[in-house]
Amino acid sequence: MPRSQKTSEAAALRDALQRGEVIPYFQPLVAMRSGELAGFEVLARWPRSDGTMTPPAIFIPLAEQAGLIDLLTMQILRGATLTAAAWPDDLRLSVNLSPLLLRDHTLAERVGEIIRQSGFPLSRMIFEVTESALIDFTETAHGVIAELKAMGAQFAQDDFGTGYSSLRQLQALPFDKLKIDASFVRTMTQQRNSRKIIAAIIGLGISLGLSTVAEGVETSQQADMLAAMGCDLGQGWWFGHPVPASEVGGGIADGRWNRPPLEATANAASDIALRLEASPTQRLGQLQALYDGAPMGLALLDTQFRYLSLNQRLADIHDLPVAAHIGRSLAEIGSDLFTAVEPNLRRALRGEAVTNVRVRWAPASRPGQVRQFVISYYPVRDEDEHVVAISLAVIDVTERADDIVLNAPHLAAEADPALARAAATLLTRRQLDIIRLTAEGLSVKEIARELKIAIGTVKAHLSRAYQLLGARNRVEAIMRARLVSDVVN
Ligand code: C2E
Ligand code: CA
Ligand code: CA
Repeated sequence: MPRSQKTSEAAALRDALQRGEVIPYFQPLVAMRSGELAGFEVLARWPRSDGTMTPPAIFIPLAEQAGLIDLLTMQILRGATLTAAAWPDDLRLSVNLSPLLLRDHTLAERVGEIIRQSGFPLSRMIFEVTESALIDFTETAHGVIAELKAMGAQFAQDDFGTGYSSLRQLQALPFDKLKIDASFVRTMTQQRNSRKIIAAIIGLGISLGLSTVAEGVETSQQADMLAAMGCDLGQGWWFGHPVPASEVGGGIADGRWNRPPLEATANAASDIALRLEASPTQRLGQLQALYDGAPMGLALLDTQFRYLSLNQRLADIHDLPVAAHIGRSLAEIGSDLFTAVEPNLRRALRGEAVTNVRVRWAPASRPGQVRQFVISYYPVRDEDEHVVAISLAVIDVTERADDIVLNAPHLAAEADPALARAAATLLTRRQLDIIRLTAEGLSVKEIARELKIAIGTVKAHLSRAYQLLGARNRVEAIMRARLVSDVVN
């Protein structure tokens, strides 16, 4: 824009703000799995006298340059929270905050004041901050964020993955949510790299305890795929366009933005989503979160039998911290056990799942003590079906009577009764068979061959079964499926 035009646009924006003409629109955010409306993001709109709308991509930068962003934000915040005050209590409100505003140490106090007046609780607010070179990790920015968080608000990193500073910013500031940038979502059904980045972001979210929101979801295929990948919330035209305040209340009352819970489909989406999409590093992040809750020792080994990850329970077997294992091989740690397990590791490396092998161990470090384990070895395959890692499940049965030992895997399932119930009541025989084969490390293709049914049918059964198991992603599904298959065997 030429300079003179810019100045006159800035003057027009100033006038519009004074007349209260820049107004909030609301775009629904929907929980991916349950299909329930979770809240709205506020998007500023500037309708002009000639009937056109100037897009925020133009007037937000203009407001930032003309020193109007503070005024604009406060007006939007006031308008939006007044509207939101009438909503049911489970709905949240997301508001975009320009990184420039984080330079003002009075911000939290002023935001708090506006929100008190409108009667919408800060504990239901999320501030979205774009990843930006503008953000300097100053004490002021930290202070403002800390104050708002202390008042109950949450923070989301917007447009995650697009800028060079993502990870640094994520590390420096205490975010609660990651918003996966629309550019990845737009290309995810065609480009494997986009899917990998999305899987990586979801994995990062899981390992850091942050929920993930996908932006720009335009098709059911994208929505299904994102849900199957474990993304928590979705936003985009598929779920609903931004609407003015006048339409929000009625829409909520009519259930306009609620969708049926995710149904498994045998289409291309589940095809792709059923595979482990994450890069090895992200896969570890995902696994770690699951590992820590598991009722048995678990580890992931690379093809040289080095620990890539493990849970506390497994580390306890060796009386060493988790960190002391990483990167070291099984032969180095617990070397007296290695001779017994090596042949089974090699079988897993060749693609065979070796389950429930009993091992006796007299640790050199504890003379006179004999411990007993039941160990299973599972191949972990990449997208091309190559074995890239081995997953170990170890149950310490030293303290257990022999009849229990025989049923050791069953104990694992007992630790998760909900799962055993699901297995008994929800799943069909065919689903159970397919899950058992999956847990044994067979690929979808191999299962189809084994059961003499179509690959698409196998996938449909699997997605349905995973859904019934309440698994959020494939890694979790495999873990649970493994327990279930132990119940039914
Ligand atoms: P954003 O925060 O990333 O907001 C999402 C943008 O994606 C919005 O554009 C929304 O209308 C658009 N969108 C939503 N669903 C879809 C979809 O399915 N497909 C496509 N192609 N687009 C979709 P919008 O409203 O034009 O806003 C653009 C940007 O302007 C926002 O990006 C945000 O960074 C900024 N912005 C908007 N309102 C405010 C505000 O009140 N304050 C600040 N600081 N920035 C704002
Ligand atoms: Ca945003
Ligand atoms: Ca965004």
